[in-house]
Amino acid sequence: MSDSDVVIVGGSVAGLQAALTLGRARRRVVLVDDGQPRNRPARHVHNFLGQLAPTPAELLASARSMLAPYDVTLVSDRVESIRPVVDGVPRFEVSARQGGHWSARSIVLATGLTDELPQVPGVSQWWGDQVVACPHCHGWEVRDQPLAQLGMRGLPARGVQRALLLSRWSNDVLLFTDGDELGGEGLARLAAAGVRVRTERVRSVERHADGLDLVLADGEAIARRAVFVVTRQHQQSDLAARLGCRLISAGPNAGAVDVDEVGRTSVPGVWAAGTTVNPALLAIGAAGQASTVATAIHAALLDEDIIEATGRVHS
Ligand SMILES: Cc1cc2nc3c(=O)[nH]c(=O)nc-3n(C[C@H](O)[C@H](O)[C@H](O)COP(=O)(O)OP(=O)(O)OC[C@H]3O[C@@H](n4cnc5c(N)ncnc54)[C@H](O)[C@@H]3O)c2cc1C
Repeated sequence: MSDSDVVIVGGSVAGLQAALTLGRARRRVVLVDDGQPRNRPARHVHNFLGQLAPTPAELLASARSMLAPYDVTLVSDRVESIRPVVDGVPRFEVSARQGGHWSARSIVLATGLTDELPQVPGVSQWWGDQVVACPHCHGWEVRDQPLAQLGMRGLPARGVQRALLLSRWSNDVLLFTDGDELGGEGLARLAAAGVRVRTERVRSVERHADGLDLVLADGEAIARRAVFVVTRQHQQSDLAARLGCRLISAGPNAGAVDVDEVGRTSVPGVWAAGTTVNPALLAIGAAGQASTVATAIHAALLDEDIIEATGRVHS
């Protein structure tokens, strides 16, 4: 088992940025990642300052290459357990599926999210291509074209909210509720924004040369350039819950790891970064938050070092 200051679980934008900041602070870091970033089906990453639409894989490869000068070990594997070792100050033993073991003074959970998609045939097939979720990420590329917002059955208010957002990118937005009925207030707000509504069930989403057809239950096919969907988000990993970290219980971030303003969880020595703590973060936001977490970890480790050194001087 090798010793490290910090084991980071998850090596997408948040985990890699935490590794960069900690590596530059001369911390010994192990980053373990099993290669499932949330945006992996997407063709390009947009809205990331300094990056001209790389693919998700290109962005991460370039971030990994920046870590070479530092004491950062990159491991391709899935962390299966993190065991706290009670010994005055927090210590952890981390084990991965293929047999790696590391001890660490601190843990960063940057394990991200997965998206549960609407159960409409075709949606998962074109997910990340012409079916996307976030207008801030992919709206500009299809601006001023006919767009669909597909709701998630059972979450009609989310569909309304997302369609209103999308109306800033095109004045031809159709909200498909997939069988959910909308209240008067939602309908009034949509009408004010120029969004039209179809409440029939959607049978499938099918590709054609210029975009996608949304095929309704009666066979009517409505052509759109792109389909934005409402998703339900789930944590990719249950490590935080198994460590006993408090999770957010209600509201839009329900299920996320509950942290203070610098990423400290309720379990001493365990920190969390990126969309694990805030599902709404764009990629650059996840990286930025992770760099704040990393600077706070460095300061906390320094405090531990000084307390230990002071104890040695006085003993
Ligand atoms: C289709 C799609 C397109 C998107 N496009 C954009 C865009 O254009 N611009 C933008 O700003 N944002 C975009 N986003 C949002 C963006 O994907 C997220 O903001 C970003 O991925 C968050 O990064 P993260 O590091 O928090 O988590 P993630 O990217 O989800 O990464 C988490 C990592 O942790 C790893 N992991 C999880 N559990 C373990 C474990 N136990 N052991 C080891 N590794 C583990 C996973 O394999 C993964 O690599 C898009 C999202 C989707 C779904």
